[in-house]
Amino acid sequence: MLNLDWFQPYEGTIHSISVIYAAICNLPRDIRFKRENLLTLGLLPGPNEVSLHKINHYLAPIVDELEFLWDRITLNRTYECQRGKYIRATLILVSCDVPAARKICGHVSALVSCHRCEKKANYENRQHNFAGMDDLEEWFYTRSSTEHRQHALNWRRCKSDASRKRMVKQTGVRWSELLRLQYFDPIRFIIIDLMHCLFLGIARWIVKRIWIEEGILASKILKKIQKKMDKF
Ligand SMILES: [Zn+2]
Repeated sequence: MLNLDWFQPYEGTIHSISVIYAAICNLPRDIRFKRENLLTLGLLPGPNEVSLHKINHYLAPIVDELEFLWDRITLNRTYECQRGKYIRATLILVSCDVPAARKICGHVSALVSCHRCEKKANYENRQHNFAGMDDLEEWFYTRSSTEHRQHALNWRRCKSDASRKRMVKQTGVRWSELLRLQYFDPIRFIIIDLMHCLFLGIARWIVKRIWIEEGILASKILKKIQKKMDKF
């Protein structure tokens, strides 16, 4: 599982440093995130956050190694394994905050559109908003990762910044080095932002403030939903 986050190491001056690191999902949860079990894959020295697709310069060497790991590599022999050992590893999840996850996988900003379905934000009064659910059938289906790859390849073929910009506006996709991994699914392998959606209460706010208080969910239906939830 890949993660990237920025932090400020100094006081009194703005200097953003970032670490790209990985956790091994085979390990039990209680030791998975201990310092000795995390793999530091890259340091981005700053002083500013790397913008957009430039993150690819840092991802490229990591992806090279992931490609080897997909084919399989041989670990040196140890006392227990006298002949060494073949191992394989794959990247199954990009788990960071939303801006970082979008950047790594080549999606546009979360302000503009959803990365899982076709919902796009409205732009009013110089602000993006995701209001409007009446036309649900038109956008509420999973994006295609094949299409994403195609858009990303087209982006990479662009010869100028202007044409790349145009492409991003049309498709919401930039090239990401992670797409070199044949098995990587840029739609399904990104975490849904549980921290904000669940733990910090966005979902709760939407259900309570909009669905219940504005009468979209009647109490009869709400009870039905609760019954289903209880079964989980
Ligand atoms: Zn969506």
